[in-house]
Amino acid sequence: MSLSRRFFLAAGASAAGASLYGCSGLALTPSAPVVSTLAPGVARVRFGNATITSLPDGFVDRPLVEGFVRNATLPQVQAALKDAGLPTDKVTVPFTPFLVQMGGRNVIFDGGNGTFGAPTSGRMLDSLKATGLQPSQIDTVILSHFHGDHINGLRDKDGKLTFPNARMLVPAPEWDWWMDDARMNAAPAAARGNFQAVRRVFGPVAQTVERFEPGRDLLPGIRSLPAFGHTAGHTTFIIDGGSQKLMYWADTTNIAPLFVRNPDWAVMFDADAEAARKVRRATMEMVVRENLLLAGYHLTLPGIGRLTPRGTGYDFTPLTS
Ligand SMILES: [Zn+2]
Repeated sequence: MSLSRRFFLAAGASAAGASLYGCSGLALTPSAPVVSTLAPGVARVRFGNATITSLPDGFVDRPLVEGFVRNATLPQVQAALKDAGLPTDKVTVPFTPFLVQMGGRNVIFDGGNGTFGAPTSGRMLDSLKATGLQPSQIDTVILSHFHGDHINGLRDKDGKLTFPNARMLVPAPEWDWWMDDARMNAAPAAARGNFQAVRRVFGPVAQTVERFEPGRDLLPGIRSLPAFGHTAGHTTFIIDGGSQKLMYWADTTNIAPLFVRNPDWAVMFDADAEAARKVRRATMEMVVRENLLLAGYHLTLPGIGRLTPRGTGYDFTPLTS
């Protein structure tokens, strides 16, 4: 552990710590986040009166093929991976739900793959164990959108809810889009799987799932923002810790070395590539302008960090302890 990290941890151990160090003349801004690692990949970041903890669900390795980035050539994508020191024959996509704790609440953002994804995924509950919390202690689950890697972990193969005591808050436009039976029936067979996953997860609790209009405050300190494009109802969130705010941007980009570096590139999973590109640009500008901490579902572990401009794009620097 570096000296400066020890300093931040020590200072963060109590509220008095900050004023103590403040009195001693050392530079500790009130908004400096405090990072601690609970288990490999499971990082807890304290900012103001909130904490966010990454709950890695694992990853998937995808062979890199033409078309993964719709508007870049394979050699361009390979060059970007090489620049980042990564293999050029595959892309490794991490999945990271997050636990936010503030005001006595335990809130989970997005739900992992469960047993429905790659064998290298489905580890969210192992990550949660490292926090000392039981699934029954989660009181709120907030969804950014309904792709399978974000919702499948919320209900197991036997139909049991993963977080039995949690309210579920979902973006209304996302619900309306995927729950439209006519749209599902008109979709090509290969595209129907995600409609079915949405029904498997939410069908039995359709009466109690709370649908919100993106743009609304959801809980004290948690505001939703419309970020449509990746999907019809894709939503991002601002978490206000008082002295520091964090943006959870969900799937505003996919992996950082490609899509944070090149914000105009469109990953194959964006439903409306041009809308997603505009939202991505605007969101990145906001994160930098407002000096927000950043968390993203497919960003480099632990998925929480800082965004800095570089050239025509940005760099994502993960926070580590
Ligand atoms: Zn995703």
